[in-house]
Amino acid sequence: MDLKRSYSRPLKKLTAVGLRPTSQRMILAKLLFDDTNRHVTAEILHKEALNLRKKVSLATVYNTLHLFTGVGLLREIVVDAGCIYFDTNTTKHHHFYCEDTRELIDIDGGDIQFDQLPKPPFGQYIREVDIIVRVKKN
Ligand SMILES: [Zn+2]
Repeated sequence: MDLKRSYSRPLKKLTAVGLRPTSQRMILAKLLFDDTNRHVTAEILHKEALNLRKKVSLATVYNTLHLFTGVGLLREIVVDAGCIYFDTNTTKHHHFYCEDTRELIDIDGGDIQFDQLPKPPFGQYIREVDIIVRVKKN
């Protein structure tokens, strides 16, 4: 495997937002940004790092995911209080959440139409609407 080449995309991602490419950040960035868009939890990513025999603590994974989110590399999707996903697709889109498989599937932003939204509380405006459509097998 050409290591230099396999780390070039994650390295570009980190340096483009001004993050220092520490070895742990590079390991996690490689898992996240290597190929197609992904939805991961901290636990999933931690398991993947361990499978590669990389020593990264779950706390480091959490901190790195939040750091990447803060600089716009990831989007946080809160399914419920105990279930937070991080999305490598940071463009505007919505999600199906499959309750049986605990999986998020992208819904294109244009596939949901709003006829009417509630009036926001006084002095506030609607900045964004995130839809999670929860589905189950029949
Ligand atoms: Zn998504």
